[in-house]
Amino acid sequence: MVGLVTELLYQKDSYLREFYAYVIEVSGNAAVLDRTAFHPTSGGVDKDIGFLYRDGDVYRVVDVVLEEGGVVKHVVGDVSGLYPGALVRGVIDWDRRYRLMRLHTTSHILLAVMYRRCGALVSGGHVYPDHAGDDFDLEFFDRRIFEEAFEEVNEIVRRGLEVRVYWLPRDEALKIPGADVQADGGPHVRKTSEVGRVVMLSAESRGRRRKRVYYTVKP
Ligand SMILES: [Zn+2]
Repeated sequence: MVGLVTELLYQKDSYLREFYAYVIEVSGNAAVLDRTAFHPTSGGVDKDIGFLYRDGDVYRVVDVVLEEGGVVKHVVGDVSGLYPGALVRGVIDWDRRYRLMRLHTTSHILLAVMYRRCGALVSGGHVYPDHAGDDFDLEFFDRRIFEEAFEEVNEIVRRGLEVRVYWLPRDEALKIPGADVQADGGPHVRKTSEVGRVVMLSAESRGRRRKRVYYTVKP
């Protein structure tokens, strides 16, 4: 189908756990919906999982993939009973999603702190439900740089700052350099205090200009 896109409900409301949508395409073992609260793996944040319900049938969503052009595929074990035009109710695994939101918000704070403290830009990273890792463009490896950064991260978390999300045209958004304004479409928490307590797990050198740090949030 040409010009078909999925409306990304999580971008308007990252706290939305349930939604109704129509199936617009079924391909392989995946259903494309006209709208979804399921976040696909993108922007360095891992996917949601959960369930789709249609009449009495339950479909376990095991993967969510954003296809080029803007459709979101919901991979389920068995698509029988799903067809274009079918109305489904989607329910995301909220415990997993909320941890992704807390850790994703933490990564923004960490990136801002690392940039301010030592001018280090992030060169990669990934947020999983149980931990996150970020690579920084740093010449020297010193664990204390990260330990001190996480102290500051936790201060910012405790202050309960409001997290603001801006929507900009893509070309404009991509012009914004590092710091505490970063271009992504991922889900965040509303206040930094929702993050909880940030704990550094480990740090390692992955190359001359690549120093990686792993962290998690508690509880
Ligand atoms: Zn973000």
